[in-house]
Amino acid sequence: MEIKKEMIEKIYEKLNNVSPLDYDCGKLCGQTCCVYDDEDYSNDDLIIYLLPGEESMYESSETFELKHFDIKEINYPYSCKKGVYTVKCLNPPNCEREIRPIQCRTFPLIPHIDKNNHFYLIFDESQYPYECPLIKENIDLNEDFIYETYKVWRLLLKNKLIYDLVDMDSRKRENSKKKYKIIK
Ligand code: SF4
Ligand code: SF4
Repeated sequence: MEIKKEMIEKIYEKLNNVSPLDYDCGKLCGQTCCVYDDEDYSNDDLIIYLLPGEESMYESSETFELKHFDIKEINYPYSCKKGVYTVKCLNPPNCEREIRPIQCRTFPLIPHIDKNNHFYLIFDESQYPYECPLIKENIDLNEDFIYETYKVWRLLLKNKLIYDLVDMDSRKRENSKKKYKIIK
């Protein structure tokens, strides 16, 4: 079952109060995760995957373009049979920050579940075309950001659809023997 809009609003509120560093980390890299663009990778391809139910936040937004993908078009767990929504920022790096997606708010941290069902936060070392200095230079993140992000993902993992998604990514990560850095 999708997450309810009221719960997403509460999560956004909690995450509004924290950020990875005490200053805007975009100053380190020219906001590369919002605006990256080169000859091999167009900024138009930069879409953000939403969590099930999060699409309710974007129904009347003029600065995010909401798109739906059918389960047959994507490699998602069967429980996500309603497919997935994504958003594209229409004027990056300027966006309606109060409704930016959860994935964006908790980056560069993502959830990981090990084979004993322990949950961790790890650095997101997926194959992006850009390098995030927070990850590359292993910069210490604010404790309150790590703590709130941990609490939010722990809560989100109670949702079966989200658990299945995180579990699928975690199994892929472990099967590929890719190293990951545990933050909490
Ligand atoms: S999260 Fe990383 S890539 Fe994005 S603005 Fe901050 S330092 Fe730059
Ligand atoms: S939602 Fe905002 S912060 Fe996130 S990638 Fe888009 S422009 Fe950047």
